[in-house]
Amino acid sequence: MSTQISNIKITKNTNSKLQTVDFDNLPFGKHFSDHMFEMNYKDGKWGEPTIVPFANLSLHPATSALHYGQSIFEGLKAQKGKNGEILVFRPDMNAKRFNESAKRMSMAEVPEGLFLEGLKTLLDIDRDWVPSKEGQSLYIRPFLFATDEYVGIRPSETYKFLIITSPVGAYYSDSVPVKIETYYTRAAEGGVGRAKAAGNYAASLYPAKLAAKEGYRQLIWTDAKTHTLIEEAGTMNVMFVINDVLITPSEEKDTILKGITKRSIVDIAKDWGVKVEEREVTIKEIIAAIEKGTLQDAFGAGTAATIAPISSIGYNGKNYELPAVETRTFSNKIKSYLTDYKKGKVEDKFNWLMSV
Ligand SMILES: *Cc1c(COP(=O)(O)O)cnc(C)c1O
Repeated sequence: MSTQISNIKITKNTNSKLQTVDFDNLPFGKHFSDHMFEMNYKDGKWGEPTIVPFANLSLHPATSALHYGQSIFEGLKAQKGKNGEILVFRPDMNAKRFNESAKRMSMAEVPEGLFLEGLKTLLDIDRDWVPSKEGQSLYIRPFLFATDEYVGIRPSETYKFLIITSPVGAYYSDSVPVKIETYYTRAAEGGVGRAKAAGNYAASLYPAKLAAKEGYRQLIWTDAKTHTLIEEAGTMNVMFVINDVLITPSEEKDTILKGITKRSIVDIAKDWGVKVEEREVTIKEIIAAIEKGTLQDAFGAGTAATIAPISSIGYNGKNYELPAVETRTFSNKIKSYLTDYKKGKVEDKFNWLMSV
């Protein structure tokens, strides 16, 4: 039974797909749960919040998001705790970041309370869709796009906000070879790199494809002006350990997305007494540390993989091998701690879990 939260109008799906999904073999992002949260903005305000059966959308061909890209999203995960409760990791941070993205893209903001209440109610209704096997989770995708039926350029006056969810399997994060990109740019100062704006990801596909032809699985993005400073790794934040110090590019600049995984790792590291530096990180110092043997750890941090170890770094036609993953004390320790934390297996000492 589901607890109905006051003002959300719920229409139940009478044709559940739950039995058609093989929960022992879950590809990423292909299966979707039975319901979705939907809410529309017009005349300067949000309409009725609803939960409806998961279904296709019908859109006018001039829907402005399709033409001019006012479109943003979030990504977070829910897991089953040991007593069958659903645990969501820091969803308030996603709600906040969603609105920072909306503001930068001149879009209507979604009240944080509604974002969280909508999510909670949706998870409650689709609770059987939250997988419980080792490593599995329910991936949550809130998104917002402009719906004006108009081919002129201006901020849309109407928007659609949706939350869909997808059961996903364990993310096997083999260590990956990455290339430091010194021509293409993910984000420039004054641009939209800090926003989770759809177009940022479209723009990264071509450079990633070129790098893949050279055998690299991910790009390390550098600053647009000088291409000497390290910013992010693919769609993750990037972190290094050199001489026992955890180092990550400062998110002060608006070219770096404020990752919740990275923020959590920084907070935990400080709690453990690890020295942390959030500052400019140069390519030069990373290469020098690899050559001197003082670089102990290098990884991407993000919701999808939590920690994605970097096996080697390509720069200026040279490939630099990093220490074997087994020897990486910090990333191995933080990965298992965060994994346990999200499942409620360790004390929620930072008050980061929302339980449904
Ligand atoms: C989503 C994202 C991240 C990671 O953020 P998390 O909140 O940790 O999932 C990092 N960089 C980019 C560009 C992203 O889109």
